This record gives sequence, C-alpha cells and structure tokens, in this order.
Amino acid sequence: MLVKTMLNRVQKYKGFVYKSVTFNDHAAEPTVDVEVVERSNSRPVCSGCDKPSAGYDRRPERRYEFIPFWGIKVFLVYSARRVNCPDCGVRVERLPWSVGKHRLTQTYAWYLSRWAKRLSWKETAEAFSTSWYHVFHSVEMAVTWGLANRNLTGIEAIGVDEIQWRRGHKYLTLVYQIDSTCKRLLWIGEARKEATLIKFFDWFGTERSAQLQFVCSDMWKPYLNVIADRAGQAIHVLDRFHIMAHLSKAIDEVRAGEARQMKADGFEPLLTNSRWLLLKRPENLTEKQETKLGELLQYNLKSIRSYLLKEDFQQLWQYTSPAWAGKFIDRWCTRTMRSKIDPMKKVAKRVRKHRELILNWFKADGLYSSGIVEGFNNKAKLTMRKAYGFKSFHTIEIALYHTIGALPEPKTTHRFF
Ligand SMILES: [Zn+2]
Repeated sequence: MLVKTMLNRVQKYKGFVYKSVTFNDHAAEPTVDVEVVERSNSRPVCSGCDKPSAGYDRRPERRYEFIPFWGIKVFLVYSARRVNCPDCGVRVERLPWSVGKHRLTQTYAWYLSRWAKRLSWKETAEAFSTSWYHVFHSVEMAVTWGLANRNLTGIEAIGVDEIQWRRGHKYLTLVYQIDSTCKRLLWIGEARKEATLIKFFDWFGTERSAQLQFVCSDMWKPYLNVIADRAGQAIHVLDRFHIMAHLSKAIDEVRAGEARQMKADGFEPLLTNSRWLLLKRPENLTEKQETKLGELLQYNLKSIRSYLLKEDFQQLWQYTSPAWAGKFIDRWCTRTMRSKIDPMKKVAKRVRKHRELILNWFKADGLYSSGIVEGFNNKAKLTMRKAYGFKSFHTIEIALYHTIGALPEPKTTHRFF
C-alpha cells in the first residue's frame, strides 16, 4: 500500500517493519493505524541496559501518535515485548520510536518542537489539534536532548544578564556565550544573587572558567563579586547596554517625579506623553516628536537636563583610547554630580565607582559589547511575553533554552518540514 511505501521512505526503524495500514473512518475522528511488528529473528532490546535479550511475554497493544497528514491522525500500533534480562530482570523492550511512557513518537515530538519555535505553544497545539501539554512535553524532550548533546568546548566570552520574570522584583540570571563563532544561551538561574552566579560557575567548572577571556555584565554588585572571584583572569567588561539602561531608568524616574510635581503645582502637564521622547535617540524621533522636544527644551526642566546628560554620555562610546575615554568619564561625572538631580547623581556615582571596568570596554575593542547581550535580552523578553501564563521556573527555562539556546538536534535522513 502506498502509505507503507511512503513510511518506509521517510521513517524506518531498525529491527521493525510496517505490516498493515488501515484507514478507520470513524465519524468523529478518522485515523490511520499502522501496524508495526518486529523483523523476524530480531531479538528485543532491554530498555534497562540496551542489550538484546530473550523474549518473555508481550504487553497489550499500544498506539503511538505519528505526524498527522490531511488533518488525519496517524498511529503506530504495536504490542511491546518484555525481555527476561540477566542483569535487569523482566523489562519492557526498548522502542526506537518512543521513550518511556510517552504516547507521541519521537518523530512527532521533534516535529512539534520545531513548529513551536515558529509559533507559540498554544498556536502549535491548535494547528495540529493536539494539547498544550503534548507541545510542552515535545519541547521539553527536544531541550533535554539538546542540553545533553551540546558542545561546551572553546567558550571564551560570556555575558551575564538579568531579566525580570514576575512582579515584585523576581529576577532570572541568564548567562550567554557571546563568542563571535557561537552566540547562545548557556545557563539560567532563578534569582540574581551571588549564590545564583556561583551556581553557574560550579556547573561550568573550573577548567572552562579558567579559559574565559571576556566576561560582560551589568554593574550589579553580586555579579561583580562572583566574576572577580571565579573568572579573575578574564577581562571584565561592563557593557554599554546595561550602562545606558541605567541612564534611561534614571531619566524615567526624574520625568515621572517632575510631571507629578508640575501637575501638583497647577502647571500644564507638559511632560505627560513625553516619556518615549526622552528615551529615544534623537535620530529616531518623528517630525512631530522633534517639534515637541524643541518645545520641551525651552524649559529648564530636570528631565531635559537629564536627557541632555544621557545624550552627552553617548559620546563616550566613540573613543578609541581608554585614557581619553577615562578623562571624558571624569568630566561627565563631575558635571552630573553638580546637576542636583538625584537619580542622575546615583548613576554618576556608580559610573565613577566602576570606572576601570567600564574602560575595559575599550580594551576589548568594543567586540563583546552591548549588541549581543541586548539582542538576547530582547528575545528573552519576547519569549517570556509569548509564554504568558507560564507559571513555573521550569517552563520558562524550557522555553528560553528552546528559543535562544541554539541547541543541537539529532541528524535524521528525512526532514518533515
Ligand atoms: Zn537489561
């Protein structure tokens, strides 16, 4: 029969053959059932130790879901043998198409997990009329396999980032590999404490840590301590993305405070709806926003002065010499400290304190700079937004590894899409 011919072309299992294919035209849900039998003279393989063994008995028939076609579900139907293994005792045989108690074939699980990279898990479930849990378990299977089979040699540069994942200051620590040859999510920790990053280095191992040449992170104290302790030989760079993010946050704080104050004082709410204006780079402003910025500039507002200080700080990244960049930082900090704007002063103090680590950016030639970590940060946020409703850390972890872990997949002879 044609379906059998096609199955033999796309998916063969060693030691097993497709016997018959039946189309069950049930009104509610038609299915295609493919009966699978062992090849004659083949011995079952023990699922405990992977050794061929003498047959013992058979389990009742079970149905394993394969990739559907034309909106019709396809099942492999097989009654598994049990073996009498000298080492493991009576065990069910190892089946090449499924693992453990999973009702989906591996082929179908890989298929769903690939789609789940392009669609949300919910959309994937809808598209293949399967359940959210089947999609989740498929992705989980793919991630587990990928983590076990990824190559962790030759990692020289890492970036440490934190991301908020729940209300009320709950953070995740994400560690990325940011080498020019390989960029991916390496590790996820639940929180952003010293203990969190210590866990990373414990997992990563002393040997691999000793090979690190660049570590890129935020000015977050717990991270700084651990990095100095565990990867002291590496050039530690405080990256541009995080520093600028601190400035943006400070501006936001100043603007919100000032807007409240102006409203209380009965002034026109000049600063309402100007948030994005002050956070955008000037070259990205629309014409209308440019006009509004012009109006705002006529007032000697703290928000505007903060904005100008941030814009001024951007010049830092144009320098090539660490010495001149250092002088620039000093002048900028002095000016900002005199501004009498508290949130900005706070940033200036931090910048001053970590001056050397910021200047490392120039030693690293800006190679391992903001772009990579910022890009990953955005993707991670998007994944978490799409994963809206995911409650547990484990689910978020699976989703993040799946989308930005660049995990390997097993080689197959046929690609189903
Ligand atoms: Zn065994």
